[in-house]
Amino acid sequence: MYKKIISLLMLVVLVCCGCGKKQDEPISNDLNTITQRDKLIVGVKTDTYPFGYMDEKGHFAGYDAALGRLIARGILGSDKKVKFVPVTASDRMMKLYSGDIDMIIATMSVTPKRLEILDFSEPYYTAGQALLVKKGSDVKTIQDLKGKKAIIVYGSTSENSLRTAVPGVGVIGYRTYPDAYKALKAGKADAIVSDDTILLGLALKDDSVELLPKRYSKELYAVAFRKGPESKDLVRAVNNVIQIEKKNGTLKTLQENFGIK
Ligand code: GLU
Repeated sequence: MYKKIISLLMLVVLVCCGCGKKQDEPISNDLNTITQRDKLIVGVKTDTYPFGYMDEKGHFAGYDAALGRLIARGILGSDKKVKFVPVTASDRMMKLYSGDIDMIIATMSVTPKRLEILDFSEPYYTAGQALLVKKGSDVKTIQDLKGKKAIIVYGSTSENSLRTAVPGVGVIGYRTYPDAYKALKAGKADAIVSDDTILLGLALKDDSVELLPKRYSKELYAVAFRKGPESKDLVRAVNNVIQIEKKNGTLKTLQENFGIK
């Protein structure tokens, strides 16, 4: 009995100490970390012209990279205070949660599933899913893919929507958009399913492919953060920048410059 009382007392002391420690522990704050580091680290694509790509000088370029620079200017006072880390649709969440990057700006759509594991800014662009086919293809709508094969990029929203729209369709996945494009050109499948603006970027100087006119979804692009209280201030700061740059017309001008308006 005596032993039992001692153990119980020890448990109470342990629990109380634990509680006390938790209350004293500062809640980590990603905005403070960035401010102290004096550099913003952003995951952007390099395979998704005109949102994220490398220009001829080897610099990170595109609408998403431009937004990253605006956010660095808004938070840290200079658009030079940003470091870009290349991400793909399939590794962007991993790089965010491993701490390699502070945020993802990479043609990433807000979806209910992603909202369970990520925090998002307000949207900064709207795209729509579409089909890219070889010119003269008998595929005119997504339903025409029944019994055929289609290409998607891993980690993108199109795999799910394609399988839902056309159950049993053959799906071929690639890690990057240029690989997906090469596969279409090589006749490995009948279409690529992805966002219209990305497909347009792929097909820009190629008369042998065609972006079909129908859109199958509304893809709201937003900046993505680790989910939790540590992101709260950062999300607020990024939303503030997006609101300012929307209001003063900078986002619109950027969209015009990149041909995505
Ligand atoms: N916007 C879609 C997505 O978030 C497709 C673009 C992409 O591959 O990033 O998945």
